[in-house]
Amino acid sequence: MADKPNDTVQSLIRAVRNRIEIEIGFGMNDLPLFEKPERADQPSGAASPEDRLEALAKVEAKAMACTKCPLHETRTNVVFGVGDRNADLMFIGEAPGRDEDAQGEPFVGRAGQLLTKIIEAIDMKREEVYIGNILKCRPPNNRNPLPMEMVMCMPYLRQQIQLIQPKIIVALGGTAVQGLLKTTDGITKLRGTFVDFEGVRLMPTFHPAYLLRNPAGKRKVWEDMQQVRDTLKDMQKEK
Ligand code: SF4
Repeated sequence: MADKPNDTVQSLIRAVRNRIEIEIGFGMNDLPLFEKPERADQPSGAASPEDRLEALAKVEAKAMACTKCPLHETRTNVVFGVGDRNADLMFIGEAPGRDEDAQGEPFVGRAGQLLTKIIEAIDMKREEVYIGNILKCRPPNNRNPLPMEMVMCMPYLRQQIQLIQPKIIVALGGTAVQGLLKTTDGITKLRGTFVDFEGVRLMPTFHPAYLLRNPAGKRKVWEDMQQVRDTLKDMQKEK
């Protein structure tokens, strides 16, 4: 049976609203129809390191109590991020898994151990980088994040990036890359080339969990990480 006119209008309104919310969540927030994403208290690049740390702690406190999307109902812990809050290098994945949800820390399972090895392969320690995810709460059964969940959670990540001020971001896996770059291109096409993410160089590469299933991909990640290491060294020299 054909939709009633009212149903059609309602579904059109839902589709438009959905689109606008997605655009706002990804930072295209100049439309006046919805509340804008919260900004960090001290987002300025000119803020002192102490001010940035204090502002980041406030963002974390908000995330720890967040109930903006339904994932808060099934999480054990909010997984905000871990590492050096003044790091030059930041890794971003898509969402916590079972181990991360249980421990409240990103990348702590087998994939996390592999990420630690990847970091050490470029002569850095895990404590010297910052590691986070787009989503701060685990999707049930590790399903892929829903677009609306990413939209609701992105403001936290945007504030983390503004306040940590990394020189380089490594985005791990297709979902994280697509969420950050607003693209439908796959990770196989995007990996290996720096792109701009709001003024920060971003290197897309494979997710460590993918490498556990497809060890042949490790060579490509090594190539990507060599670029990251060399570019970071050059940028640190320019300081
Ligand atoms: S996933 Fe993000 S938006 Fe959803 S409840 Fe957790 S912190 Fe809030």
